[in-house]
Amino acid sequence: MILSEKPAILSGTPIFNHPVPIARPALPRFDDMAEEFNRVLLSGDVTNGSKVKQFEKAAAAYLGVEHCVAVNSCTSGLLLTLRSLGIKGEVILPSFTFFATAHPVIWNGLTPVFVDCEPDTFNLNPAEVERLISEKTGAILAVHMYGNPAEMGQLEKIANKNKIPLILDAAHGFGSKYQGTLIGRYGSAEVFSLSPTKTVIACEGGLVATNDGVLARLLRAGRNYGDPGTYDPDLVGINARMSELHAIVALHSVRGVEEDVRQRNVIAQKYIERLSKLPGLTFQRILEGNRSSYKDFSILVDEREFGIGRDLLCHALKAEGIMTRRYFYPPVHRLKVYREYYEVCKDRLPYTDRISNSVLSLPIYQKLNAEVDGICSAIERIWRYLEEVKRKVGSQP
Ligand SMILES: *Cc1c(COP(=O)(O)O)cnc(C)c1O
Repeated sequence: MILSEKPAILSGTPIFNHPVPIARPALPRFDDMAEEFNRVLLSGDVTNGSKVKQFEKAAAAYLGVEHCVAVNSCTSGLLLTLRSLGIKGEVILPSFTFFATAHPVIWNGLTPVFVDCEPDTFNLNPAEVERLISEKTGAILAVHMYGNPAEMGQLEKIANKNKIPLILDAAHGFGSKYQGTLIGRYGSAEVFSLSPTKTVIACEGGLVATNDGVLARLLRAGRNYGDPGTYDPDLVGINARMSELHAIVALHSVRGVEEDVRQRNVIAQKYIERLSKLPGLTFQRILEGNRSSYKDFSILVDEREFGIGRDLLCHALKAEGIMTRRYFYPPVHRLKVYREYYEVCKDRLPYTDRISNSVLSLPIYQKLNAEVDGICSAIERIWRYLEEVKRKVGSQP
């Protein structure tokens, strides 16, 4: 019986002899795409062609939004969205996020204004956004953290009242629902990532969803160096085109998103059910009526209540063959390339620091099901042998 055994970090037998990765992309089978690949290669029309259009149409139909513009990454999608909307001055955004949320702000010569997140949802705090808005604010850039929908009602109200665009980094949000409505039609634009750890995958890719036809037209030009087809660019664009081969993968992937998100929710509930029995472990709050995509499943480890901290738990789980990640540590305002913004915001981000210092993302992906029990058992037995684990690690040089 696993439970009576010592954890692997104390020389017990690891629960998994093959490492369980943190994420595993649910990719379509080659055989299901082979004919389409072949047709594209034979046609010579290999980028930004009919497959990209077909994917954009399928995504727009699924999301219930007027326009979808496929690009080669979420980062380039955000970059082009900020550029196309002509944003000036400051952009309000969370620091508790992946740094690719913030980089496009810098690339556009804009100033990031980092705002704290909420302690329970880990999303941008609307009251703090309102407090920090000034005449210099050019846009609000919110994130659906791990797929948990940002507080769209309040954020849209604040953006409308101040007549500034609201842009969503929806990298985690494909398949998420805010009050029953799929993420993708909120704000001025929502920008998805289709890279391998996300819920819809193109291998590499991004997608901008918007109901603004003018913006969509500029984005289409923008991804092609700004050229709308006249050889006289409408804006200083970049090459952010999606290839036809990537579009085929994305097209197959988007058909599976409902099932993917359904399974992730089942896994998340299993984790919550078992781990909530241990002291000092808490979970992201998904508000009533919302659905998270659970692109990631992250727990907070309270060192005092649980007995050991996040980093030691991560270390002990690795010995069990369980890969975890500290998404997102350090927070953006503490990264060296954001040094010049640190002083002004360091004292107003208490929850960002607290969450970032105690968060641990556990493996989650379709077909993880069988392993969830083993992962929970590992955490339970590490907790049961806390004192020995601490002593052992404390005695190491
Ligand atoms: C993955 C991710 C991105 C970047 O997506 P790419 O498609 O790799 O550019 C941006 N923001 C967040 C929050 C992400 O997790």
